[in-house]
Amino acid sequence: MEMAVRSAMHLAGAAVLTKLLQLPAPAADHRNIPCACGHQARYRELRSKPILTAVGNVEISRPYYLCPHCHNGQFPADIELDIENTAFSPGVRRMQALVGQDAPFDHGRQQIKLLADLELTTKSVERTAEVIGEAIAVGERQEIQRAKQLDLPMVVGNPVPVVYVQIDATGVPVVKKETVGRQGKDGHPARHRDAKLGCVFTQTTWDKEGYAIRDPDTTTYVCAIEIAEEFGKRIYLEAWQRGWSRAAIKVVIGDGAEWIWNIADLHFPGAIQIVDLYHARQHLWDLARKLYLQEAEQRRWMMIHQDMLDKGDIENLVPAIRSIDSSNPELAETIRNTANYFETHAERMRYPEFRRQHLFVGSGVIEAGCKTVIGSRCKQSGMFWTVRAANAILALRCCHINGRFEDYWEARRA
Ligand SMILES: [Zn+2]
Repeated sequence: MEMAVRSAMHLAGAAVLTKLLQLPAPAADHRNIPCACGHQARYRELRSKPILTAVGNVEISRPYYLCPHCHNGQFPADIELDIENTAFSPGVRRMQALVGQDAPFDHGRQQIKLLADLELTTKSVERTAEVIGEAIAVGERQEIQRAKQLDLPMVVGNPVPVVYVQIDATGVPVVKKETVGRQGKDGHPARHRDAKLGCVFTQTTWDKEGYAIRDPDTTTYVCAIEIAEEFGKRIYLEAWQRGWSRAAIKVVIGDGAEWIWNIADLHFPGAIQIVDLYHARQHLWDLARKLYLQEAEQRRWMMIHQDMLDKGDIENLVPAIRSIDSSNPELAETIRNTANYFETHAERMRYPEFRRQHLFVGSGVIEAGCKTVIGSRCKQSGMFWTVRAANAILALRCCHINGRFEDYWEARRA
């Protein structure tokens, strides 16, 4: 019965809306409006089009103007009502975008059917979500452009004790044409493109044992498939907007990837740089497994060397690794690479010093983000993305997760 009543109310609502949307012809002295070409467009007639709204199908009728000079037609009412070039009302598009950023598009179509009793095609959910995601991405590019010209808005508010920037990347499966000419891993053709993810969060306190506690609900994300140079500007703007300049302590955490530390040096000078402790330990484990076949021996070797790492004693760890003898050229190279890795990042591995300041030493937040922001939406089986679509959906998804989705609609209304 409740479903039947809802359907009836939708029908009644649609009838009311249709009536409200029968716009009158303009008065005789308002029949010319400016055209983009510089001439005047003239009122021709009332034209109608169907619009799917939150209460179902309605019909809008509104004045149509045509420019005799350039032959461009226009519907000023469509712009005012935010239904230009679309058959969906803003209310419906908001639903399409919301479900489209959350789950596969067909799943979203089913959710809207169940929750809002609206019949949509899967394609329409996909298209609307992508159009809105792209609009959000365009807005972000403009903001980044302004930030580049040092025209940053002043951030006001209380100073924050510690602000963290964490950066990582994860592969997104893409359609063939997106990897043409790109080198895959281990000789296989590349099927993935790296989506770079950055997050910003704050910390004001620590637990009884002195371990850092992340301030709840302070994490925001930026994400895109793009080159490091572009991504650097993106994460810089996000950090700035989150009060980076007002922070007492600034921290950048990442794994060993060179591009991350290039961004840190360029955009976040003076920040404390920390290589994720668990990645660093992983490098030791990788070497231990190549040095010894027996697990017991691997563990014994790790006990000694992980202890040096955890103590930030890189000055002894590096020579200890370099002194390992091997006649196997492949192993010798691993030994060299591992030693170089620790040597390169020595200053980023002063873990006892970081702990003394009650800072995070792991990149758990961004790794979880790789799964929740990117993985759960873009890496489901059978999914293959174009870079354009993936970037649109990721922009939309970050916007929603960051709590800024309503701002987008607010801006449109304005
Ligand atoms: Zn014109």
